[in-house]
Amino acid sequence: MISYHPDSRFLTDFASANLPMAQAMCVSAHLEFCGKCRAHVHQLKEIGGHLLSQIPPVAVEAGSFEQLMSKIASPQPLPTAPSAQAHNALTSIAPKSGKETYLPRSVRRLSNGSLQNLGWAQFGKALRIAPLPIAGETLETSIYDIKAGGQMPEHEHRGEEITVLLKGSFSDADGTYSRGDFVVRNAGEAHQPTATQDTDCICLVCLERPVRPRGWFYRLLEPYIQYRLHSLKRNGATH
Ligand SMILES: [Zn+2]
Repeated sequence: MISYHPDSRFLTDFASANLPMAQAMCVSAHLEFCGKCRAHVHQLKEIGGHLLSQIPPVAVEAGSFEQLMSKIASPQPLPTAPSAQAHNALTSIAPKSGKETYLPRSVRRLSNGSLQNLGWAQFGKALRIAPLPIAGETLETSIYDIKAGGQMPEHEHRGEEITVLLKGSFSDADGTYSRGDFVVRNAGEAHQPTATQDTDCICLVCLERPVRPRGWFYRLLEPYIQYRLHSLKRNGATH
């Protein structure tokens, strides 16, 4: 059952195509799981359309919402001219034969149908991260895969973080989150997510700024982690 939803700011900005692409992807992913928020967005679009029809057409960017959706579901999500290194990283792992039907459409598009097509970086035994190649997006957007029962290092947020649970569940000191949940953390908040024992946890994560790991071991590793994520993102993105 979904317990955490985007607040009205996110839904309104989404309906009016005013969210950065990465955050719009997170809202869109949640909407695929949540009929209640879908209905809310539909209603907001109707109200927005009505209001827009009251003002002179010169001020209206017609169909901006639809434009946004078509960008998210772009049939050419991967770099048009990837470097040889990026190409190798993207193709070195054979795609899974099983269908990842739990993935939202936007993520399926961006990963060419399978998460195995993304460039993964392993952090310890429990966590691996794959940056998503979103053209022109400055927010750091990734897929996190936490092994069943695995614990992420405790970390503190330096900016807003949105997590959408795509598969499995995790918990931290504040609660337990399951499939479809839209979880927002703000700058200064710290937590240590732990995946539940029964299944791996897959999340779509959008960060305003990179997180700061707590604990001396991860602090020592941080420059390496940032370098690794940066190079993966650079190789995986078109810009
Ligand atoms: Zn919802």
